[in-house]
Amino acid sequence: MSFAIDTQSPFLLYSRQTKGIFIKPEPDGGAGADGDGSAAPGGAGVRKGLTDMEIITSVKGFKDILPQETGKWQYVEEMARKIFTDFGFREIRIPILEKTELFKRGIGEATDIVEKEMYTFLDRGGEYLTLRPEATASVIRAYLEHSIYAADPVVRLFTIGPMFRRERPQKGRYRQFHQINAELLGLDDPRIDAEIILMLIHFLKSVGLADLRLEINSLGCRQCRPAFKESLIGLLQGKEDGLCGDCQRRLTTNPIRVFDCKMEQCGRIIAQAPRLLDFICSTCRDHFERVKGSLNAFELSFEVNTRMVRGLDYYTKTAFEVTTEFLGAQNAIAGGGRYDRLVKDLGGPDIAGVGFAIGFERLISILPAKNEEFLVTPQLFIAALGSQAQKTAFVLGNRLRMMGVRTEMDYTGKSLKGQMKRADRLKSRYTLILGDRELAEKRAELRDMEKGTQETLSLNTLKEAIIKTLRER
Ligand code: AMP
Repeated sequence: MSFAIDTQSPFLLYSRQTKGIFIKPEPDGGAGADGDGSAAPGGAGVRKGLTDMEIITSVKGFKDILPQETGKWQYVEEMARKIFTDFGFREIRIPILEKTELFKRGIGEATDIVEKEMYTFLDRGGEYLTLRPEATASVIRAYLEHSIYAADPVVRLFTIGPMFRRERPQKGRYRQFHQINAELLGLDDPRIDAEIILMLIHFLKSVGLADLRLEINSLGCRQCRPAFKESLIGLLQGKEDGLCGDCQRRLTTNPIRVFDCKMEQCGRIIAQAPRLLDFICSTCRDHFERVKGSLNAFELSFEVNTRMVRGLDYYTKTAFEVTTEFLGAQNAIAGGGRYDRLVKDLGGPDIAGVGFAIGFERLISILPAKNEEFLVTPQLFIAALGSQAQKTAFVLGNRLRMMGVRTEMDYTGKSLKGQMKRADRLKSRYTLILGDRELAEKRAELRDMEKGTQETLSLNTLKEAIIKTLRER
């Protein structure tokens, strides 16, 4: 693959020291400086390049999930697949890159995510693309693009994968993080809101989480929200000077988003704000009462949090969040709600929806199970001594792998002691000792590494004997 560099461009800089080409900050400082000292695309903080000898590390806020951790991830994914399937959901896999317009229209232009946190770039074809900051808009896009609703408008979909938000990284908050998302389209019945919450709580409990707190609220609809907005503006006007810059701007763009503000000065003012619940229309009130009734029928305890608005514009009526005290400051493990206008806003028919997203990293960080419980160790280590035995071991080891036996062996010609040490370190259950002498006598020694016992096996029936021993264990 090749790409052209416009060496005449005023934004290109060639560094002799690091033998690299960097993008020079735009004269006005660019758009991306965010005060955390890191560079934003085209922004002011372009960093010094690495020397050829330096290790290249991962991007700030982007984490590796190491082999010792992936067992937990796979376990959680399997549980999600099982439980969500039991509730009628099917998996959908969607791209991580979408047209920027999708999120602007879906999430709302005047939200923190769209205003400040998206990884957006101008593609070579001249189109603005964005690494998805959330999954709901993409799921709806796919639902519409493939007319999934035509066969049956009631569709239950889930997806698992990475999301990207350029937030300030801290414990429990990353720039690439993973979510498990469930979306239920085509039903506006309040029982469905309760059903999806039930599935969420059942799943979180099934993977071992305890002390979960469920908070719910009603965000009203397009009919009743304007009156609330007006009342909110009434309170905030005259208090602008006490608000942070962002909230002063929100006052004209999207006043409800002041509830997302984490600044203390704004918190004091917002504490006096009217309650959205006091403004909802009779349809929304009835819906909310029936959601609560259904949660009670499931014996799910919950609290009504009238200040919870969630950070995305598309929610209508029910909104919910699951928190746990074990997470510290970033205590929300999952959140979701109803979005009865989103499908239409994205150009589709008038179809209701409700869904949630679980923060995978946060869930993993409080999972009671330990990494070791998911450790996959070899069942057999073949310690081969001598050139003929090594040849036999190479073929035998790979045949056993193809028969489903997790097998490891030595390729370096270590001493028997060295090989046994490695088998021990790898926590192999058995070790097969195979030397040129054993080979000549058509036998091998199988050592039980836990019990310290050993038995002699005939080479003629070696594979069968090993599989039988592993099965009988
Ligand atoms: P949201 O998509 O904002 O409704 O978030 C749903 C869940 O995703 C939250 O409850 C968190 O558990 C998780 N989450 C959101 N943002 C981040 C982030 N930057 N890093 C890690 N987890 C996150």
